[in-house]
Amino acid sequence: MNSSLIGFPRVGKLRELKFASEKYFKQEISTEELEQVAKGLREMHWNLQQAAGISHIPSNDFSYYDNVLDLTVLLNALPENYRQLGLSERDTYFAAARGYQGEAGDVKALAMKKWFNTNYHYLVPELFDDTEIKLAGSKPFDEYEEAKQIGVLTKPVIIGGFTFLKLAKYKGSKTINDFAEDVANAYIAILDRFNEQGVEWVQFDEPSLVTDLSEDDVALFASLYEKVLAHKGNVKVLLQTYFGDVRDSYEEVIGLDFDGIGLDFIEGKQTVELLERHGFPADKTLFAGVLNGKNIWKSDYKKVIELVNGLEKFSKDIVISTSCSLLHVPYTLENETNLAQEVSQYFAFAKEKLQEIKELTELIGTSGHYEENENYLANQQVFSADRVYEDKHVQASVASLTERDFVRNVPRKKRRAIQKERLQLGLLPTTTIGSFPQTREVKQNRSKYRKGDISRAEYDENIKGFIKECIDLQEELGLDVLVHGESERNDMVEFFGENLAGYVFTEKAWVQSYGTRCVKPPIIFGDIRREKPITVFYSEYAQSLSDKPVKGMLTGPVTILNWSFPREDISLKEMAFQIGLAIREEVQDLEEAGIKIIQIDEAALKEKLPIRREEWASEYLDWAIPAFRLCHSGVRPETQVHTHMCYSEFEEIVKDIDNMDADVISFEASRSKLTIIDALKANHFETEVGPGVYDIHSPRVPSVDEMVAVLKNALTKIDEENLWINPDCGLKTRGIKETRESLANLVAAAQIIKDAVSV
Ligand code: GLN
Ligand code: ZN
Repeated sequence: MNSSLIGFPRVGKLRELKFASEKYFKQEISTEELEQVAKGLREMHWNLQQAAGISHIPSNDFSYYDNVLDLTVLLNALPENYRQLGLSERDTYFAAARGYQGEAGDVKALAMKKWFNTNYHYLVPELFDDTEIKLAGSKPFDEYEEAKQIGVLTKPVIIGGFTFLKLAKYKGSKTINDFAEDVANAYIAILDRFNEQGVEWVQFDEPSLVTDLSEDDVALFASLYEKVLAHKGNVKVLLQTYFGDVRDSYEEVIGLDFDGIGLDFIEGKQTVELLERHGFPADKTLFAGVLNGKNIWKSDYKKVIELVNGLEKFSKDIVISTSCSLLHVPYTLENETNLAQEVSQYFAFAKEKLQEIKELTELIGTSGHYEENENYLANQQVFSADRVYEDKHVQASVASLTERDFVRNVPRKKRRAIQKERLQLGLLPTTTIGSFPQTREVKQNRSKYRKGDISRAEYDENIKGFIKECIDLQEELGLDVLVHGESERNDMVEFFGENLAGYVFTEKAWVQSYGTRCVKPPIIFGDIRREKPITVFYSEYAQSLSDKPVKGMLTGPVTILNWSFPREDISLKEMAFQIGLAIREEVQDLEEAGIKIIQIDEAALKEKLPIRREEWASEYLDWAIPAFRLCHSGVRPETQVHTHMCYSEFEEIVKDIDNMDADVISFEASRSKLTIIDALKANHFETEVGPGVYDIHSPRVPSVDEMVAVLKNALTKIDEENLWINPDCGLKTRGIKETRESLANLVAAAQIIKDAVSV
């Protein structure tokens, strides 16, 4: 049995690429040094896969920042403003990824968006009327050659033209179809090059095929590939899909001249049904995504083998693979020294999944005699034991929830009057999203405490010091609603997980979120319960330092769930409600401690919205919105509840967001150009809103004028009574200097607007 990998994590076992890139950004290492690190990683990953006997090893799955940006560059589609900087190729690329402010000019980064239903973010291609799409780079060819040099024959991986066109933003009068011809020609040129190189297989990733497609979309897809495949020459082309099934285009997909078709049997609910209904062509290879590429749990060999055996009636030519790129799981369990064996025996990260594939290909190859195999028995032993740490009390609390537990007693309008009276903020209050720069001292404090170099008391004393600095800074800047700065948190989810029973933690299990940013999702292992207050100590102290309101700062249940690795033995709803109850206890305690404003971040609410619209409500919103309401429905009317969402683009679920029944919401808007504001107006949005007035994902300092313009624009659509002024997300990844300057400009811009509206 042959095997294939769709992609492998690229930041390295210990995030080597991240650290090298960051040094490069600070000009501490040269381009060559950065490239050396990258090369070393690629080699290591290829060797690992070869050792695991993977038949189809990917190349060009590596990226310095993002694969979509790589493709944009490869297709000559990088916007002029980046090229005009006149920087080196590498730095032009990074300018598009991160924005650039320096001698060569001042440009913002490309917009960032979530990659389908994952926590990975890609840079959105922008196509202008004068964008000339053509093959204009050599990355995939170079990486193929590089692997070949060390004796690994790879399958180059490139995001397909259809997905590229679907993800792009059209900035001029031309639309998607106007670029289709050029895109097809560029891919033909790509295939020509691969033919010259003697490449055997190439993989075109088309995850857009698992989204809801119109007839026009399907027609575009079909005509694009009719053209491209007519020129494939000797190269075999694998159409790779993932994150769902291709129900809208399956017949077209199997009708085209692909040599292999990669289907997702894990997230693709209808994949098997599609095969049953329409069959699978005998002249093509079925790349069956039968191992979950997104979770950290071991695969149940029995289930996988049965699934694959069941597929043999559709195809005699099956290659097994993961359901998606392993980009979305951590690198290896080998880095974990603190996990008890009874816990870690359930896990398989990227490297361990390679081992699983190896064992599975051997087992499936033995045609029926696998049941006495040692590896098989060892695997099955894990699945036959009782795993989860149960908590009957929590289970009973969730079971006994009623309608009333999800509803705030006093309706929003009435609450607003009471809150205005109590908080006395005036029009257009300024605030921030919560975290302040994580300086070296802040990080050291946590790491010293973790290593046992300082006591809990010393640790807390230091935190108090950071809180005081943070409050002083905000007072000095003149912000209206303050925050404590979150210096006790590494990460907005891990911090809460660490304080909730039922979670387990890893030390080095990082997953790339965007560019050099990685997250370390905690793992939900058992039933979730709050053991003791989590944030009250910090919030209470922060509030004691100021007469202005200081927001209590929590992460909401949907985000905690979405940014954790979930269990697979109970439903997402069940987990969300368990976490919701834990956060509810914390909310209650904050209110008790005199905190007047409580922010419950749902940064990732939108993230796990099913890709298919027909599943939005039933599979997700019907429990996600109630889980949030469960947290705050018990507070008094005078307590103001805020929430925050990132990378929003929540135009289509505006009503659901309003239904969260928060009093105020802040959200990312600067990179997505405030389009959501129109949706708020159209839907008569009732929640007060703070659309972010500048982009914190870039080190660039926004000018006063720029923010005044954003605010003026916002005020054309949002009633001044409802508008808040804030950056678009937390400031933890920023430096202190740029933060101070940016916030000073924000307060100045706010003042200009406040003066203008009060006359
Ligand atoms: N309160 C969090 C912070 O400021 C929110 C972070 C986020 O939305 N990603 O860091
Ligand atoms: Zn955010």
